[in-house]
Amino acid sequence: MTRVRHEGPVIVGAGLAGLSAALEAAQAGARVLVLTPEPLLSGCSSAWAQGGMAAALTAVDSAELHARDTEAAGAGLVDPGAAQALTEAGRETVEWLAALGAPFDRYGDGSFVVSLEAAHSVARVARVGGDGAGRAILSAVVAAVRAEARIEVWEDARLKGLMQDETGRVVGAVAARGERLVEVTASAVVLATGGAGGLFAATTTPAVLKGEGMALAARAGAEILDPEFVQFHPTAIDVGLDPAPLATEALRGEGARLIDGAGAFLLGEEADADLKPRDVVARAVHAARTAGRGAFLDARTAVGEGFPHEFPAVFAACMRAGLDPRVSPIPVMAACHYHMGGVAADADGRTTVPGLYAVGECAATGVHGANRLASNSLLEAAAFGGRAGR
Ligand SMILES: Cc1cc2nc3c(=O)[nH]c(=O)nc-3n(C[C@H](O)[C@H](O)[C@H](O)COP(=O)(O)OP(=O)(O)OC[C@H]3O[C@@H](n4cnc5c(N)ncnc54)[C@H](O)[C@@H]3O)c2cc1C
Repeated sequence: MTRVRHEGPVIVGAGLAGLSAALEAAQAGARVLVLTPEPLLSGCSSAWAQGGMAAALTAVDSAELHARDTEAAGAGLVDPGAAQALTEAGRETVEWLAALGAPFDRYGDGSFVVSLEAAHSVARVARVGGDGAGRAILSAVVAAVRAEARIEVWEDARLKGLMQDETGRVVGAVAARGERLVEVTASAVVLATGGAGGLFAATTTPAVLKGEGMALAARAGAEILDPEFVQFHPTAIDVGLDPAPLATEALRGEGARLIDGAGAFLLGEEADADLKPRDVVARAVHAARTAGRGAFLDARTAVGEGFPHEFPAVFAACMRAGLDPRVSPIPVMAACHYHMGGVAADADGRTTVPGLYAVGECAATGVHGANRLASNSLLEAAAFGGRAGR
């Protein structure tokens, strides 16, 4: 066992939540050590996000309306104060990321291009380059982290344990670096380890995400909130790949329709029938498949020839599997996508254990209730990650 004394916080995980916390902590004067098992930009959901970041950015929108939609999607279990804190941070968070270099799509007058996603009452998802939002946003954040002398990143370190003093306070972390175990003492440990999709048979998340941060927090005595609240995405592309590629919700926002093998609509004929909350749509997809009817996303008319430039990531995933979405409906299934539950934490990341913080998907702050509103998680990762860092 090697021992390292670090004078400052250790942040575990290098997705948008962890790196936002790292940047803000460094900005506030701290020396930050980030632990992550893979090179930056890999092994995290943040780099795979397609749709974008929800924020009230237009004249027809407001933080209050965004909070109301968040609460409605969360099935009565959203903490209204947390939702308000999140949605009020929308514009400043998008602008902070844009200032770091995140190339959000903009109109000629400089305003942000926003798209409509399920259960949002207005278009409010700031997007980047069609369906490549996550990688583009995270790349800007990674560049800022690399340029910050106060941040050190170990890109081969997997959290194995939390160190506690005799009072229970978390005072450091144990990480595996290859065959070696390293004990790092720290002023605080911030868990930013993402979700737990790697534990499920069908998932859209990187396989490395196995809920280890949550498990180690539980072992340290932290309160765990709603661990059973797992969101299944209704349109994971069913072409035998693990993890399953995702057909972003924005496709349905553009008018793509869910049909069964005989061409009948899965959720009804109304134009917005397929834009119901994710749990409703996922159950309909699952029911059609278990009844032997099959489930498909038909984007032939709504997107058609525009596919390669409007949704390049989805197009590439389909073509790699030998399926041309311009001429064939895409076979879809429900797959584990997001963990609403996790380590109980407030909007500043404080858990019930002194010295231990949790941000991003591994935290449960009450903003998502039983069902996350689409594209609220990148916002939560950056906004609450940044707050914890500060
Ligand atoms: C395909 C896909 C599309 C999505 N699209 C959107 C979208 O359009 N909009 C939106 O808002 N949300 C979207 N989401 C959800 C969103 O991407 C995530 O909720 C968010 O990025 C989580 O950020 P995070 O920083 O908390 O976790 P992650 O980005 O997953 O990062 C977790 C980090 O922790 C590390 N880690 C894990 N275990 C350990 C360990 N034991 N030790 C050390 N490090 C560890 C990982 O390697 C990684 O670096 C999507 C998710 C997926 C999978």
